[in-house]
Amino acid sequence: FPSRLPNVGTTIFTVMSALAAQHKAVNLGQGFPDFACDPQLLDAVNNAMRAGHNQYPPMAGVQVLRDAMSEKYQTLYGRKYDANTEITVTAGATQAILTAVLACVQPGDEAIVLEPCYDSYVPNIETAGGKVVRVPLTPGTFRPDFDKIAAAITPRTRLLIINSPHNPSATIWTDAEMRKLEELLAPTDIILISDEVYEHMVFDGAAHQSAARFPGLAARAFIVSSFGKTYHVTGWKIGTVAAPAALTAEFRKVHQFNVFTVNTPMQYGIADYMQDPAPYLQLPAFYQTKRDLFRAGLKDSRFKLLPSQGSYFQCVDISGISDLSEADFCQWLTREIGVAAIPLSAFYVEKFDQRVVRFCFAKKDETLRDAIERLRRL
Ligand code: PMP
Ligand code: GLN
Repeated sequence: FPSRLPNVGTTIFTVMSALAAQHKAVNLGQGFPDFACDPQLLDAVNNAMRAGHNQYPPMAGVQVLRDAMSEKYQTLYGRKYDANTEITVTAGATQAILTAVLACVQPGDEAIVLEPCYDSYVPNIETAGGKVVRVPLTPGTFRPDFDKIAAAITPRTRLLIINSPHNPSATIWTDAEMRKLEELLAPTDIILISDEVYEHMVFDGAAHQSAARFPGLAARAFIVSSFGKTYHVTGWKIGTVAAPAALTAEFRKVHQFNVFTVNTPMQYGIADYMQDPAPYLQLPAFYQTKRDLFRAGLKDSRFKLLPSQGSYFQCVDISGISDLSEADFCQWLTREIGVAAIPLSAFYVEKFDQRVVRFCFAKKDETLRDAIERLRRL
C-alpha cells in the first residue's frame, strides 16, 4: 500500500547508536545520559508501585503531577496554568509534539519549522497531512531570521515549531528574540509549539526564555517538557504539555484516542520527587561543568568548537580535519577512532553539509575523558 511517509528511514540516532555498539565506540551520538538517575527518584517510583498506583490514571495524568507542574510553571516562568484544564501528561516530548501537531494541523495547512530541527517535526507534520515550510536559521550562528520567518507566513500558516535550548545547535533564544516573535505572530492566529525539553540546561548564567513568560506567545502555545531530560531518565518516556484550555481540549481529543494516558507509578513517583526543586535547579551547573570539561579537552585539537549556550550538545566544525562529508565523517569517526557523533545534516530535509557534527556531553566524566583522548589524536 502507499507509504504514509515515503521519505522516512531509520532515525540517525538509532543508526549511530547501533554502529557505536558494533564498534564498541564511545557513544557521544544519540542524546542520553550514561549515568544513573538519583536513587531517590527510583525509590519514589517504587513506593508508588507498592502503594498500589498501578491501574489507569486519569486521561490527562494524575492530579498531583499536574499540580506540581502548574506550580513549577508559575514559580519559574510566572504564568499560572490550570492543572485541570491546561496541563496534560504525555508519553515523552515525542508523543506530545505529534499529538499537538495532529490536534491543530489539517490537511493542506502550512506548518513552519526552523532548520536545522529535531528529526520528528517534519514527519509529524506530514503525518497530519500538513505542508512543511522550512525556514533556515541563520547559517553559522543558528539565530532565528525574522525576515525569513515573516516571509514564510501565509494565510494558510497554521503552526510554527520552535525549540530552545536548541537541538542540535545548542543555541538559546534571547528575551529580545522571543519578544520579536511575539510581535511577529500578534496579527496572526498561528499556533506555536515551543519544544522546551532542554529548559534546565542553560549555561553561563543565561535564563531559559520559556514561551510561558510571554503572554502573546503563551496564549497560542503548546509548551513541551520532558522529565526524561530533566531527571536523566530518557527511557521513561514521560513529559507534559502546557497550553491554554481551548488548545488543551483539542490536544486531549487526540491524546485520549492515541495513548489515552501515561503509566501511573512514574507519574506519582515524579510528582513526589518534584517537591524538592533542587535537582532541576542544579542542572545548569551540573551540565555546564560537563560542557566545560569537554570543551577544555578539545580546545587545542583540530576540532573547531562552536558555542554551546544550552542543551547537552556541543557542535564542532570538522573542516580542519577531514574532507569527508559530515555523515561519512561520523561513520569513519565511529569505526576508526571509536567515538560516535551525529552529522548536522541529519537535522535538515535536504541534506546540507556544513562540516559540522554534534557531540552529546551528557556522559560520565570518565566517558568524556575517554572520548577526548581519542579525539585529540586527530
Ligand atoms: N525534542 C527535542 C529537541 C529532543 O532533543 C528530544 C529528545 N531527543 C525530544 C523532543 C523527545 O523527548 P522525549 O524523549 O521526552 O520524547
Ligand atoms: N533526542 C535525542 C537526540 O537528539 C535522541 C532521541 C531519539 O533517539 N529519538 O539525540
